[in-house]
Amino acid sequence: MLNKMQAIRGMNDILPEQITAWQKLEAALRMLTRQYGYQEIRLPILEKTELFKRSIGDVTDIVEKEMYTFLDRNNESLSLRPEGTVGCVRAGIEHGLLYNQIQRWWYLGPMFRHERPQKGRYRQFHQFGVEVFGLVQPDIDAELILMTARLWAELGLQNRLSLQINSLGSASAREEYKKNLIEYFNQHQDQLDEVSKRRLQTNPLRILDSKNPELQDLIQKAPQLLNFLDEESDQHFTELQTLLKDAEICFVVNPRLVRGLDYYNKTVFEWVMTEAQGAQNTVCAGGRYDGLVGQLGGHATPAIGFALGLERLIDLLPPLNLSEAQSPDIYFINTGALARQQGLILAEQLRKALPNMSLVLDCSGAGIKSQFKRADKSQARFALILGDDEVKSDTIAFKDLKQKKPQETLQQAELMQKITQVLNS
Ligand code: ATP
Ligand code: MG
Repeated sequence: MLNKMQAIRGMNDILPEQITAWQKLEAALRMLTRQYGYQEIRLPILEKTELFKRSIGDVTDIVEKEMYTFLDRNNESLSLRPEGTVGCVRAGIEHGLLYNQIQRWWYLGPMFRHERPQKGRYRQFHQFGVEVFGLVQPDIDAELILMTARLWAELGLQNRLSLQINSLGSASAREEYKKNLIEYFNQHQDQLDEVSKRRLQTNPLRILDSKNPELQDLIQKAPQLLNFLDEESDQHFTELQTLLKDAEICFVVNPRLVRGLDYYNKTVFEWVMTEAQGAQNTVCAGGRYDGLVGQLGGHATPAIGFALGLERLIDLLPPLNLSEAQSPDIYFINTGALARQQGLILAEQLRKALPNMSLVLDCSGAGIKSQFKRADKSQARFALILGDDEVKSDTIAFKDLKQKKPQETLQQAELMQKITQVLNS
């Protein structure tokens, strides 16, 4: 026998038995974006590699080692998108949608990163994100945070996620800070691990992001970016905190929250799982990126966004009674040549008249016993049974599968009324 084909490691199939949880979450996200007046944008999954390199940063984890990059048949370097922000910015500039305009966008779709697969960390995963362009004031930073807080409340997760915020200041404030940080870590070279030593050369801020427990003490004592903030960023951050307090949003200022991407400035925030420690405990992350539109060739445009990981969020949700959520209302059993012919047509008439009803037609041509077994397995509430005898007499049998009542025989003309009545009961 041939070896069974298998999916790529870290790329999950989402099976029908799991789909109800996804659909529920997606419905909640759609409702949320409607409540806040955000518009959906759908973008290609492939972009030119250069786009990600120029925006995310050459020495970030994503660009250094996580991107799925390949040459296409024209020898052009393309990459599967590792995140959604950059594509939004590219599209916004390309279609002239950003200059002197305010845009509130959202997206939902697969992202790809070549990481080591483990719980909560996959190579194809899904993000929901929002991006807002054209607003400078911290009011919009607060709106995004309120929006996520509303989602947690809607999903019953308000006590399981907590908010951390920080400010990365302006690019020049960060440069000044970087110098101090390098000096500090240089003095403690002997305590750094290999990764951090390398980051000290390439991207020293990222050392603060290290998950290595042995480095935590050193990181705690490092100089803090908040002490280097420029006046404008400082004021922005203070105002944001006031807005959040007024809106009764709990948060902690985490001076070591730096985010892994180069393009952020001013506000950054993360929602982390309250009870889970570890590397996969961030569910949602975002921040301002006022410089990115300019950096990618557009007119300077303030911008802010966040992204949340659907897999990590679904893991937090209470399990659903999936079989019930997906079971049809009616299972239609049909045996015999005439009944198979008429069954198909009758089923269509019912679907047309009752568009909210879910009806499965057996279609197997099998005997009545095995069709009844399938009807039970489907967890349908009711069964219709049509044989050649019923066709000849213009009747059809009806059975309540949940209440185990005896089967009734109806005139076909009465059927619509009967179904309407039982489905509304
Ligand atoms: P982490 O520190 O966990 O690697 P990140 O900073 O790389 O996260 P972002 O780029 O900010 O993550 O993406 C936002 C969210 O997307 C994360 O908070 C997480 O919920 C989700 N996410 C990121 N990478 C993965 C992945 N490989 N698998 C599943 N979800 C992911
Ligand atoms: Mg990561």
